[in-house]
Amino acid sequence: MRITLIPGDGIGPEVSDAMVRCVSAVADIDWDMQDFESTEGLLESIKRNRVAIKGPITTPVGSGFRSINVALRSALDLYASVRPAKIYPGVKTPFHDVDIVVIRENLEDLYSGIEFERGKKDTKSFIAAVRKLTGQKIRSDSGISVKSISVFNSRRIAEFAFRYAVSSKRKKVTAVHKANIMKFSDGLFLGVARSIARKYKRIEFNERIVDNMCMQLVQKPQDYDVLVCPNLYGDIISDLCAGLVGGVGVAPSANIGEKYAVFEPVHGSAPKYAGKNKANPSAMILAAVMMLRHIGERKAADKLEKAVARVIKEGKYVTYDIARKRPVGTWQMADAIIREVEK
Ligand code: NAD
Repeated sequence: MRITLIPGDGIGPEVSDAMVRCVSAVADIDWDMQDFESTEGLLESIKRNRVAIKGPITTPVGSGFRSINVALRSALDLYASVRPAKIYPGVKTPFHDVDIVVIRENLEDLYSGIEFERGKKDTKSFIAAVRKLTGQKIRSDSGISVKSISVFNSRRIAEFAFRYAVSSKRKKVTAVHKANIMKFSDGLFLGVARSIARKYKRIEFNERIVDNMCMQLVQKPQDYDVLVCPNLYGDIISDLCAGLVGGVGVAPSANIGEKYAVFEPVHGSAPKYAGKNKANPSAMILAAVMMLRHIGERKAADKLEKAVARVIKEGKYVTYDIARKRPVGTWQMADAIIREVEK
């Protein structure tokens, strides 16, 4: 099968190399390599192949540059982000028995990219319109990002979360929100999640306000199973969950739509480790495991996941972020995983 591969930048090319070598040991994939600088070529390739795997891409903070990740998700209508967080024995974490999947709405909320820059003409008009419509005053020196949450996307993501719970034999879905404060956006999301929950009688449903959710995830993560979240809370909570299970170096994710799917590690481009053969390749390899399951290569996926788990458990050939003794590099950890696959 042909799959689009976007190595990305920073540590992306190294973890991508490691992933390609590991996947080659279990499955026959024809990689369609794409540079992220040509967004058009990239989109064409993903539309052709329907499935892609990507390394991280750097997004400068606070500049006019819109994130390529956000652009890809909206151009391909990848409305659901799936981020499993489970403890592989051997990782460094004070927690135990964590096995949570965060299902994050991927397209709207504060990430729709609708923003008004401080001092601009349109921003002044927007502030005036708000004053006229609501009587509320926004300070004239404000920058504004719009938070919008629709019934359409809330329904899609809640349905996705319950379908995922059923198909992966999970027991509980928790909706995360701040509907006590944002009644018309988070309140709408919660109302839709409640109505979808009624259709899935065998799956337990509960709801948590996002701040309480964060505390509970740290105090009793074993109580949680599938979490369904609007975009921003899902982004933050999935990193929190990655922290529970040993860090972003072992956390994969999938962006899924009706037609296309793009798999990637949760972590970013970690510029300080770029080109240093230090980054943990596990998140990227586990993203490939999710991809293999998605394309029906179940046996290959199980084999590769088991090999990653055994290398982590043994702890002899692991990178700095999870090493208890002397760490090895990205390349050496991938070698150890390949040796496990071939045993
Ligand atoms: P980051 O994930 O790059 O780094 C956070 C911390 O985790 C750092 O200490 C880093 O060294 C460490 N880390 C990350 N990946 C690791 C790995 N594989 N092995 C071991 N340690 C690892 O997050 P950041 O510093 O907030 O972001 C850096 C850049 O990446 C930013 O430009 C951001 O926008 C971008 N980013 C991209 C994506 C994506 O492409 N999907 C996701 C997140 C961040």
